[in-house]
Amino acid sequence: MHDQIFVSLMNIRKFHLSIVLTNQCNLNCVYCYECHKKRQHIQPERVKTIISEYLNSSHYDEVEIDFFGGEPFLEFQTIKETCEWVWSQRWKNKYIFFATTNGVLVQGDIKEWLRQHKKYFWVSLSLDGTRESHNKNRSNSFDKIDIPFFKECWPEQTVKMTISKETIECIYDNIVYIHSLGFNITGTNFAEGIDWENEKYIGVVASQLEKLCLYYIDNPSIKPVPLINMAIHKCAEDKSIHKWCGCGEHMAAYETDGKKYPCTFFTPMTFDKQTLNSVLRLDFTKHADFVDNDCLNNCYLEPVCNCCYGANLLTNGIVNKRDRSKCELMKVRAVYSAALKAHKLLNNTLVTPEDKLTIQAINKINEIYNS
Ligand code: SF4
Ligand code: SF4
Ligand code: SF4
Repeated sequence: MHDQIFVSLMNIRKFHLSIVLTNQCNLNCVYCYECHKKRQHIQPERVKTIISEYLNSSHYDEVEIDFFGGEPFLEFQTIKETCEWVWSQRWKNKYIFFATTNGVLVQGDIKEWLRQHKKYFWVSLSLDGTRESHNKNRSNSFDKIDIPFFKECWPEQTVKMTISKETIECIYDNIVYIHSLGFNITGTNFAEGIDWENEKYIGVVASQLEKLCLYYIDNPSIKPVPLINMAIHKCAEDKSIHKWCGCGEHMAAYETDGKKYPCTFFTPMTFDKQTLNSVLRLDFTKHADFVDNDCLNNCYLEPVCNCCYGANLLTNGIVNKRDRSKCELMKVRAVYSAALKAHKLLNNTLVTPEDKLTIQAINKINEIYNS
């Protein structure tokens, strides 16, 4: 998910450019939604042409160039050739290269090249927790990843973790393990396509989040995962019509055939041609067309309930009908986010306007969802 990238600071116009280098992957994760994996890859000359257009554009100031897959390092020669070509020239706009990897191919020459260019090429690792959990989700790949290498090169970089029904009982162990490696965690996504409403899952998540809440209370210097660190003060503000991410506006994804799509979710890796044609006819600047009015008007948690329009389309066949399969998870997350915030506020002597909203939200969340 990319919503955090589009915060425009001091009017800097940022663009997020994803380039799908290959549809192939060396793993077969249990939750992978990229179901149309074909043997295709993009040519380096096409990649250079696409990047040049954005680095010379007067519409942006900064471009984050995200090499995407499948597994992007299957196309390391294209990455290397493109980056070295870009670095050898002067461009109008600032830029940074970025890739998310499953880590398995980051060995030997690739590792040395990345170490050499770590200031200009950032890498984020997908890691689902302990050896046992990671192996269950991600094709027994744990022992093939040099985890300390990622920590050494990008100490500030966060890892992405996905929770599947196979690892739900170990959320606490997995998160604490990743923290013990010295990483913060940005994404803790629940895998798509699972009946998360099932009571047995909700009960397990609640007990895992309770333990996690106590862990963060005991370890106040560790940044809590977004799972129980929701910005609940927003629930106490006036509601507004908004779009959750920049898909189709401040971002684009180019597929292996060189065609442009609104983001990496809306590509032939996930959807068939007919569905994509209907997506390409949407006006992504009309934010009201992306709002689920039932959520906006009737749910207290709407301002913190992150929404992915690609996931909506995949689950409900329409971009503005939210996937309701995670509503109960959302309520549990809100209750434990409120508990953690309440503990922090108890030790606060200076109460800011945001804290006042947080206190209102804590009371309301407890009233509605914690009975
Ligand atoms: S590493 Fe990523 S692309 Fe590859 S199978 Fe796993 S989730 Fe899918
Ligand atoms: S929790 Fe459910 S009802 Fe509330 S905003 Fe999210 S999807 Fe909508
Ligand atoms: S639609 Fe989903 S995958 Fe695409 S940019 Fe938005 S949040 Fe990310």
